[in-house]
Amino acid sequence: MPGTQTEANEGAFPLWFGIWESAAMNLNALERMISERKPAGPQPVVFIGHGSPMNIVRDNAFTRSLTELGEQVGKPRAVLVISAHWLTRGDTKVAVNPGPPVIYDFGGFPEDLYRVKYPAKGAPLVAREVIAEVQSIAIHEDHEMGLDHGAWSILRFMWPLADVPVFQMSIDYYKPPAYHFELGKQLRRLRNKGVMILGSGNIVHNLRQISWEENDPWVPDWAQEFDAWTKVKLEAGDYTALQNYRELGTVAKMAVPTNDHYLPMIYALGALGEKEAIRFTHESFQNGSISMRSFQGV
Ligand code: ZN
Repeated sequence: MPGTQTEANEGAFPLWFGIWESAAMNLNALERMISERKPAGPQPVVFIGHGSPMNIVRDNAFTRSLTELGEQVGKPRAVLVISAHWLTRGDTKVAVNPGPPVIYDFGGFPEDLYRVKYPAKGAPLVAREVIAEVQSIAIHEDHEMGLDHGAWSILRFMWPLADVPVFQMSIDYYKPPAYHFELGKQLRRLRNKGVMILGSGNIVHNLRQISWEENDPWVPDWAQEFDAWTKVKLEAGDYTALQNYRELGTVAKMAVPTNDHYLPMIYALGALGEKEAIRFTHESFQNGSISMRSFQGV
């Protein structure tokens, strides 16, 4: 939340000034005063369009937007990632692995990508808070799951030191969008407990229709149309329309032929507060038709 950060900084000068005046004040009191002045607002919710794994080794407008986002949000207690690349069927799982290994879940890419490490810790205690928080279904623990590339390809730019604990929750791929929206709502309260919610997918994602040229300037009409429609609905806060995207017909079928990459956005929308607006942190197309549109609740 950009506004709150500014307020904290503005408040810091008179506080420090006052402390220099007082010889009796010790360091502990100083620390306490500063932490009391920090706003205790909720952690952010973001949706990131992650695109091709090639971004893992790129310095481009998209990856720079992730670096800026990481600097802006600071370091939460933990980050919960809902990624397009962890789908389960008839069940929702949460990873409780204390040391989640990086999963190189892509094939045929240059060797450099497979050498990238991201040694972030897991957050089993926080993951169990998710299980306690969600009332509508029983979420099950998964002890094996590591970090799929929908998670670590983003986090390596946001927090390059891998110093924010991270864990993932799976998507029950049998369920309709409204189900995922309701589940996202139940994650909201975790934001007040220091947990950032991050959905990772892509609003327009049709691998049969991509260009092999990363920066292909030609974007098909259906991709532009669906992305523009989504932008309008996001700005209007019309999350019902976004859940019923199939009503758009052919354009939706082209843009979202399967909804694995679309559903992480629905989770992010569910986790937004009632009066929370969104701001786009990045918008572009890569590989012709992949929408990299990303946003943050504000
Ligand atoms: Zn993906």
